This record gives sequence, C-alpha cells and structure tokens, in this order.
Amino acid sequence: MRHKEKVVKHDEGKVFDIELEESILKANEDLAAENQQLLRRHGVKAIDIMGSIGSGKTSLIENIVQRLKERYRIAVFNGDLTTTIDADRVAKHGVEVVQINTGKECHLDANLVAKALKNVNLRQLDLILIENVGNLICPGEFKLGADRRLVVVSVTEGPYMVLKHPFIFMEADVVVINKLDLAEAMGVEFEKLQRDTEKINPRAKVVGASCRNNIGTDRVIEALQIDSQ
Ligand code: MG
Ligand code: ZN
Repeated sequence: MRHKEKVVKHDEGKVFDIELEESILKANEDLAAENQQLLRRHGVKAIDIMGSIGSGKTSLIENIVQRLKERYRIAVFNGDLTTTIDADRVAKHGVEVVQINTGKECHLDANLVAKALKNVNLRQLDLILIENVGNLICPGEFKLGADRRLVVVSVTEGPYMVLKHPFIFMEADVVVINKLDLAEAMGVEFEKLQRDTEKINPRAKVVGASCRNNIGTDRVIEALQIDSQ
C-alpha cells in the first residue's frame, strides 16, 4: 500500500502557532471555570451539546425541553454562525432562548457563553442547554463551563464518523447516536458506532435515539443525570 509511505504530519517541520493556540486555550479554560462557578453558585446545571450540522442537536434539545419544561426552569443558548433558525424552533416551546451568533467562528467559547449568561436571570433558572456550532472538531477543545458534555452523531453521517473525530468523543459524558430509524437504509449499525465510541472513551454513556420520532429522549435525560451533582 504505497499511500502509507506518504503521510504528512501536523507536528513535523516548522510549527509556528502552537504557543498562541495554547495561550488561547488556557485563557478559555480559565473563563470556563468562572462560568462554572457562577452557574454552581446559582444551582444551575448546563449542558454543552455538540455535533455536526444536521446531526439532530436542535431536535434533541426540543425533545428534552418538552419533556422537562414542567419540572425545570430552562433556557437554551443557540450557537450559530449567522442564522436564528434553531433559536426560532426552540423558542416555540416557550422557554427562554439566547441566540449566540459566532460570525466566522466555528465553535462556541467560554467568553461567548459568559456574555450569554449575562442575558439571563440565573436566579430564575435550573437548567441551560447550550447548542454548540455544528462541527465535530474544535468545540471539543473549548470548554464552556458546562457540567456535562453531550455529542450527537447520526447514522446518516456514515460508519466512520466516530473514529475520524476521536478528540470530541474523548470529551463526551454522553454520546447520542441519532436517526436510528435510518440505520438500515444507511447500512450503518448502532452497535458499531457504540463500540467505536467505547473504545475511544469507556466513560461515555452511549444512547441510541430517533429524535425526529421522539424516541430515546428519556434515556438521554437519564444518562445526563440532571438531578445529581
Ligand atoms: Mg441545530
Ligand atoms: Zn472552531
């Protein structure tokens, strides 16, 4: 296999942005810790929901909101480059929504979340669901100060989505494998994606779902352990 002899590695040769990247990540981590302290002081739980565009993040959020809005006072932060499509969908469920337009940034960071937190009254909230920007790469690197991190991956993204994005799955407390109703048509097995996830991160709880059909929501909520610390 000739191609194996020709591999370009990211850490070979001149590397000129590593220090900059490290200092950005460090500053982000400090701010994330501040967000977390602020949330804890007010007894508010936050969940960082990550996944590609079209994986079903917004549908999952809508399902969770419908299931929990009588029990908890919920706000949703919607990260998106420019549109309010998702925020509009969530707002229909009668919960507070804060749109975070990131412009050209392909992920949320702790600073954007800190600003969003200033737009809500934490004394009147129990739970914040944060929809990250649709992307399986950098959102994993930028902690927001959430108590739990959830990654949604759908079977329509193909059989290798988990293996190709190990870093974000390493960060996940809960992994939702979505669109199970389409698994057979896609020729993608839930069990394969589950095994791939567990290999990368044995700590993650893997839950199957079909968010469009509101299947799996209760198990996702259980896996998130919203009631416990
Ligand atoms: Mg969305
Ligand atoms: Zn990014």
